Amino acid sequence: MSDNFDVKLEKKSYLPEYSYRDNSWIGEYEPAYQRFLDDPERFWSEIAHELEWMQPWDNVMEWEHPYAKWFTNAKLNITCNCLDRHVNGDKRNKVALMWRGEDELHERVLTYRQLHAQVMRFANALKGLGVRKGDAVCLYMPFVPEHVVAILACARIGAVHSIVYGGFGADALNSRIRDANAKVVITADVSYRRGKTIMLKSIVDEAVTNASCVEKVVVLKRTNLNIELMPEKEVDFYEIMANADPVCEPEVMDAEDPLFILYTSGTTGKPKGIVHTCGGYMVGTYYTTKYVFDMKDSDVHWCTADPGWITGHSYIVYGPLSTGATVLISETVPDYPDPGIWWKTVEDIGVTIFYTAPTSIRMFMKYGEEWPKKYNLDSLRILGSVGEPLNPEAFEWYYRKIGKARCPIIDTWWQTETGMHMLATLVGDKMKPGFTGKPIPGVIADVVDKDGNPCAPGIGGLLVIKAPWPSMMRTIHNDDERYRQYWNTVGNYYTAGDLAVKDEDGYIMVIGRSDDVIIVAGHNLGTAEVESALVSQEAVAEAAVIGKPDPVKGQSVKAFVTLCVGYKPSEALKNDLIYNVRMSLGPIAMPSEIEFVDSLPKTRSGKIMRRVLKAKDMGLDPGDISTLEE
Ligand code: ATP
Ligand code: MG
Repeated sequence: MSDNFDVKLEKKSYLPEYSYRDNSWIGEYEPAYQRFLDDPERFWSEIAHELEWMQPWDNVMEWEHPYAKWFTNAKLNITCNCLDRHVNGDKRNKVALMWRGEDELHERVLTYRQLHAQVMRFANALKGLGVRKGDAVCLYMPFVPEHVVAILACARIGAVHSIVYGGFGADALNSRIRDANAKVVITADVSYRRGKTIMLKSIVDEAVTNASCVEKVVVLKRTNLNIELMPEKEVDFYEIMANADPVCEPEVMDAEDPLFILYTSGTTGKPKGIVHTCGGYMVGTYYTTKYVFDMKDSDVHWCTADPGWITGHSYIVYGPLSTGATVLISETVPDYPDPGIWWKTVEDIGVTIFYTAPTSIRMFMKYGEEWPKKYNLDSLRILGSVGEPLNPEAFEWYYRKIGKARCPIIDTWWQTETGMHMLATLVGDKMKPGFTGKPIPGVIADVVDKDGNPCAPGIGGLLVIKAPWPSMMRTIHNDDERYRQYWNTVGNYYTAGDLAVKDEDGYIMVIGRSDDVIIVAGHNLGTAEVESALVSQEAVAEAAVIGKPDPVKGQSVKAFVTLCVGYKPSEALKNDLIYNVRMSLGPIAMPSEIEFVDSLPKTRSGKIMRRVLKAKDMGLDPGDISTLEE
């Protein structure tokens, strides 16, 4: 990468600060961050002491580059903190999970006591199938309460879960089952999506045909289709549960024992099997749920992700349940039966913390504000975002149309690899549209050049994390060399693979992926800036830009654009869009080509896959597209 990488940082429209954060816990940002810097081990150990351990640790952290051990020799079971602690404390009959299917006729509620009881029974049922500590179990399920039960049941007995999003096809499932060497697969007869019934079990049938590691398949029957189960190999979810003992003592886990394997989204390449361990992950997700979301006992938390993504693992299951929150889970998509369904859900249930991805927000913008306007969104208190840069335009819309200029927008930057939030704008802090925020206390992040020197404010570079944190990945399954690369690319830092820029206040803006960087006339361009400049125009719903080889400039910018409802492609509009980008970012960033498209290629978790656009445009092989949405 060449060194000139200036980013235009506009000092505009910083939004009001909020003062209602409860500061009794970690406290205000600055002093909390300072306390962390003064004594990191003490900072983490104080948080860890709020949780239950079977045996305390010898050392908070041991580091031998690039391998970290956190809470060494401590013993625990994460389910004790997510369940037993509440059942034995004051939350026995508090609602743990609320589930809503595709309509309000399908709702279920589980208290902490009920969830605990089901988890213990299903944990014993898994033991009955021969699952032991350290065995891998693959979950390929619809988003129903049993999915959460199955996740926690694995953790209860020390089985390593590997969740595969229920929208993947047989090949993607097969390769993940084999990579993780799963002994058991847990699935359901069907899932529902946009009113359609998807035969999940037949996808599993296909996926396990040449996966000899799989000994048993557990099938949750949701319908009266009564599909035949193959004797010996296939068993019924509730039948094995009914025959299991009700009490399952938690397996004693070492802090460094693996908790799960999870494959990344595959936005920039072949998905990597990220390995997380029990102790550090528990502390990191507990801390960030409580601090970043400012979680209170009265909150109703709705994270719209699926458990198949890290966001679902950390901020639907482990984080919120470890804090004793009430968690809403829902099988809906944002625009079926209509684009008001999520807002209706917020109103009906009284959601207070809402956490979603920019792709959904941009989709809502495309349909217009009349949809959220139909519902009362007064219960909302905090609005979160994760997954991609939240462009200023989408930020403003989310802030005004959903939050009614009342709720802080908490943008959170993190990765499957990091396990927990790393950068965020905290409740009570100044919000800057376009910027994610600052490293949270506990995290040392920076923007550096390729030699590891910090970049000055306004100069873009590589986003790195300079010190280990509890919930960092420990390795990549079957590819430790790839793990080491994360810590050996720039100095001794962890390189995230993202490009970013800092401002004078230390706020960080993610400007793209290092794999997607565009170099025009020796000048580096992140994709996010140009895309945001396009999306800021009324007609544009979403945009993706790529670099194309150019004989004079090295590369030129090509933009793919989808339009909002009510706009039609035309030459005049093209020229307008190009002109406006030129005006806001200068000639370097000006697209030389614009193509109107109906939709952009995305991962199933909703991220734009620029490498697919680029390959297609240049007639090249797109590489691994197993995570491409249909
Ligand atoms: P792969 O690593 O396989 O290419 P992926 O990086 O999309 O896939 P995830 O771990 O799901 O897999 O996503 C993490 C990435 O998502 C980050 O590296 C970053 O690029 C992007 N991201 C997440 N949150 C934010 C955010 N708040 N702002 C900007 N980008 C974000
Ligand atoms: Mg990644």
